[in-house]
Amino acid sequence: DSTLSPHVRGMMTSPAVRIADRCDAMRARGDNVYKLVLGQSPFPIPDRMVDALRVAAAEKEYLPAQGLPALRRAIAAHVERRLGVDRTGEDVLVGPGSKELVFLLQIAFNGDLLIPTPAWVSYVPQARVLGREVVMLPTRREDQYLLRPDDLAAVCERGGDRPRLLVLNYPSNPTGLTYRADELRELARVAQKHGVLLLADEIYAELHHKGQHASIARWYPEGTILSTGISKWLGAGGWRLGAFVFPQELRGLLDAMACVASETYTSTSAPVQHAAVVAFEGGEDIDRYLQQVRRVLAALGRWSARRLVAAGIDCAQPVGAFYVFPDFGGVGGAMRARGITTSTGLCEALLDETGVALLPGSVFGRPEEELTARLAYVDFDGARALSAVSVIPREQ
Ligand code: PLP
Repeated sequence: DSTLSPHVRGMMTSPAVRIADRCDAMRARGDNVYKLVLGQSPFPIPDRMVDALRVAAAEKEYLPAQGLPALRRAIAAHVERRLGVDRTGEDVLVGPGSKELVFLLQIAFNGDLLIPTPAWVSYVPQARVLGREVVMLPTRREDQYLLRPDDLAAVCERGGDRPRLLVLNYPSNPTGLTYRADELRELARVAQKHGVLLLADEIYAELHHKGQHASIARWYPEGTILSTGISKWLGAGGWRLGAFVFPQELRGLLDAMACVASETYTSTSAPVQHAAVVAFEGGEDIDRYLQQVRRVLAALGRWSARRLVAAGIDCAQPVGAFYVFPDFGGVGGAMRARGITTSTGLCEALLDETGVALLPGSVFGRPEEELTARLAYVDFDGARALSAVSVIPREQ
């Protein structure tokens, strides 16, 4: 189609949305479908946030592109309290979802993006829209898909003088796995040595199942941009609010992104920003909510991984977020005998034959022939999930 810019020609709706639509069509036909595809929290938003949004409904002014000052201060305080990283409200940029902020960063940053795979589905399509090249860094299953510092060092040594930005997402979508503190320290050391900047996508930080998330910004504060938001841990994806927290050294990037924001969407929804202050200021109710959410996710994650392993499918126990990333390679012989040789073919056969919908590993940048898939183990009604807490044994 000649009316389309080459950057968007051939672009399709995100695979998760396409497969979810297909599931809905199957359900409408009366089929039993297990839709394990969407990365959406099943839990209701904490009451105090919903009440705050009602109160803020009459807030009608455009806000500064950088964000409501009270919210920025609350986010900086949250980051300091929870992650031990010293930041002020001036360091924070609020946006309509962290996804939009990743896009603004890709607009504003001059240099190469390094993306370990498997990776969240939107980093690469965003780069493509901008006509920007990305460098993929494949990780290994035996490393739990975590980036080896040696592999990072090797790309850095190859790459010449161009500025680089490594996108590190942990706990990970799609694997549910995360880095240990000593692993983060080592990655930070390599990045610092080579002057590589970091985008630490920590949107699932609060959904570490044991509440033990550590941020790489602790070891490389001057080079790390932190990404956070309310979509995952507070179940408020549809409110559309995220934030990036910058070191002072990268204030130029923050300012440039805020300029682009002011010329495109102006500012993030005023009522939502007012209500989000409650979330980042926190309190006993939010802590209690989070403890219950973590217990349910931990139990479901453990159960899902065990069931897969019992069926002969390789699957690591998740430690955060709400995904597992099984590898069907162990039953690959049986698959190949049936003509299934790709992760896409695997997911199609699963959906057709069993009604189980997963997302193929190829969507996350893994090779098709690898037979991996992402399973989001949160396809149930949120109220039922919270009431299930009492029957789930406490983690010892
Ligand atoms: N980063 C990762 C790893 C995600 O999984 C998601 C949501 O799916 C996002 C960023 C975007 O979240 P939001 O735009 O809702 O803040």
